[in-house]
Amino acid sequence: MSTTQANKIEINKVATSKINQVDFDNLNFGSVFTDHLLECDFKNGEWQTPVIKPYAPFLLDPSARVFHYGQAIFEGMKAYKDEQDSIWLFRPDENFNRFNSSAVRMAMPEVPEEVFMNGLNELLKLDHEWIKKGLGNTLYIRPFLIATGEGVIANPSEDYKFMIILSPAKAYYSGEVKVLIAEHYSRAANGGIGAAKTAGNYAGQFYPTSLANKQGFQQIIWTDDATHTKLEEAGTMNVFFRINDTLFTAPVSERILDGVTRKSLIDMAKKEGLDIEVRPVLVSELVEASKNGSLKEIFGAGTAAVISPIAGFSYRDEYYELPKVSDSFAMILKEKLTNMQHKLIEDTYGWTVKVS
Ligand code: PMP
Repeated sequence: MSTTQANKIEINKVATSKINQVDFDNLNFGSVFTDHLLECDFKNGEWQTPVIKPYAPFLLDPSARVFHYGQAIFEGMKAYKDEQDSIWLFRPDENFNRFNSSAVRMAMPEVPEEVFMNGLNELLKLDHEWIKKGLGNTLYIRPFLIATGEGVIANPSEDYKFMIILSPAKAYYSGEVKVLIAEHYSRAANGGIGAAKTAGNYAGQFYPTSLANKQGFQQIIWTDDATHTKLEEAGTMNVFFRINDTLFTAPVSERILDGVTRKSLIDMAKKEGLDIEVRPVLVSELVEASKNGSLKEIFGAGTAAVISPIAGFSYRDEYYELPKVSDSFAMILKEKLTNMQHKLIEDTYGWTVKVS
């Protein structure tokens, strides 16, 4: 595709918006979508002209590779509206780069920046009314790429479809989160696909997580597959541990998704003067710290939930409850991050990017 083609977006608008049918005060995360979507097909080795069109189901051949071999990647990002009605993204370049790293790992074509970024910007401008002002109101953005090529042959597809869909989201209150530390199942392995944001990584977690749910735990904290001794990450969140007044989080690796929230919190903690160490954290350290009272907080960090405090963890059938702390690092960081994303405080990092 030439640059002119990528810059030229075809726009087909809906006849009537469905926005008036949406109750913005009672949104279930990820279940309502805006009026339009962006679509760009990859055919004959080339990206076609991107199209913005009404959100609707579409047809695929039953033999499309995505159904059989799981060539599917996605991203999760958010748009925010400030008090002056301007639309902002948070570190969109990070999501764009991670998307294409995932594409490479899954033997899929990389999406050109013009298609991803210009497409997203145009889509956001068109559906801008779906982004509500105020802390806690966001528009969740889901770019994804699937293999549409036909044939039940275990080879990479020749054809692909890139899409962006948008879903208005309220602040994500997940309630009390109790976690189980993985001892048998693994999310990822060295040399595998754990660092890619690809569908199978999530499907593979559903069964062990449903077993954990039956025992009363909402999430699993995954451990390294080889020894199950190092704490890695949760379902859709990286994880932070506070022992005394130091925060710890695992280094990213082939097994861990390089979270945008995680890397932002690390930089913010440093700037805020919080003590932070990026190093492997052992399950045994966590158990020991809980027993001797030095374990103060555990929290997950990711785009959807932002920061999700963890109430307690279970390991080898023993439950360890977290104390209630008054000076929660999770809350300090969450407030700073969300205020910055909504432009309520100055962004001294240069992370917020204006759409319009
Ligand atoms: N780990 C996994 C497995 C995830 O799916 C996500 C969500 N993208 C994260 C961590 C957090 O990443 P981010 O902060 O970029 O949303």
